[in-house]
Amino acid sequence: TPTAIIVGVGKGAHEGILVKDAATLEELHKVDTVVFDKTGTITLGKPTLVDIKNLSTLKDDEFISILATLEKKSEHPIASAILNYSKEKNIKLLEVSNFENIQGKGIKGLISNVEYYAGNVKLVTDTNLLFDVAVIEQYTLQGKTPVILSTKEKVLGFVMVSDEIKAESKKAIADLHRLGIRSVMLTGDDAQAAKYMASLVGIDDVIAHVLPQNKLEKIRELQLQGRIVAMAGDGVNDAPALAQANVGIAMSTGTDVAIESAGITLLNGDISKLVKAIKLSKMTMRGIKQNLFWAFIYNIVGIPLAAGVFYPAFGLLLNPIFAGFAMAMSSVSVVLNSLRIKTKKL
Ligand code: ADP
Ligand code: MG
Repeated sequence: TPTAIIVGVGKGAHEGILVKDAATLEELHKVDTVVFDKTGTITLGKPTLVDIKNLSTLKDDEFISILATLEKKSEHPIASAILNYSKEKNIKLLEVSNFENIQGKGIKGLISNVEYYAGNVKLVTDTNLLFDVAVIEQYTLQGKTPVILSTKEKVLGFVMVSDEIKAESKKAIADLHRLGIRSVMLTGDDAQAAKYMASLVGIDDVIAHVLPQNKLEKIRELQLQGRIVAMAGDGVNDAPALAQANVGIAMSTGTDVAIESAGITLLNGDISKLVKAIKLSKMTMRGIKQNLFWAFIYNIVGIPLAAGVFYPAFGLLLNPIFAGFAMAMSSVSVVLNSLRIKTKKL
């Protein structure tokens, strides 16, 4: 068992799959559901600003300036999309105070004594502002994420950010399906946008608008349905879910907390390695079972033989020299069988 696991972990490392402990490698072959975070796991996590819809009397530059000023204090990937845009257009930023994150919804802050909000549809509906969701649907149906800027009184407009899907995402999901594994997308993002992205890569189920603290809950629900769940994520908000899942899988491109909470880390954030990791786990477990099988067979046959049990009936005896040799060979054979894992293709 240890030789198979050592060879398995070593082969994984060679393929860019970093396995933290043996238990993870054993658990992974049982997984029947893989839950994916969207941003940074299925997508690159580097969104760009693609549309601007200014619905206020402000000039476009002023509108972006207010929005970018708010986002200056945020660490969400959306914020860098907006800040990159404002930098590109040389738009001057203002001062913001009383900045606050509104979990799972967006941000708020005080600029020139006016309180501004920026975030998703939930944020707007929470504050009971007049806003026709239909105007953003044409964008969200294309997988774009809305950022709506408003004051306490009214909506000033919105921008759309769009994130590219990783090149390997689609194939990774298809390979999982071939292994009979279900895929689920778990995200704090807009439901329409998430569904569109999921359909592009072939993910079966989408759970959207999930607050960071509820990601763990959703994993637990799946487990209560009897599923063995692997969770793949990259963000700080994924860490509790990664820890709750039977197997947590982090992207090396993600945050340290995520990597710390996960049992497996995929180098370069390459999720096609996830399928390889599952295959590696199956291969290692098969190796362990073969080793145990042969070890038992040798001993069940060899020990009675050497002890002379078959002598009275069949006249069979084992010369002690051969017995010693056979004993050594049984160890050599399981080690060689374990080393075979190294030569197999994932
Ligand atoms: P996720 O990592 O899945 O996006 P979060 O909980 O970090 O989950 O965010 C949930 C949603 O809240 C985002 O999809 C976005 O719509 C909104 N949001 C969060 N932070 C910001 C921000 N700085 N600016 C605008 N919207 C934000
Ligand atoms: Mg993320």
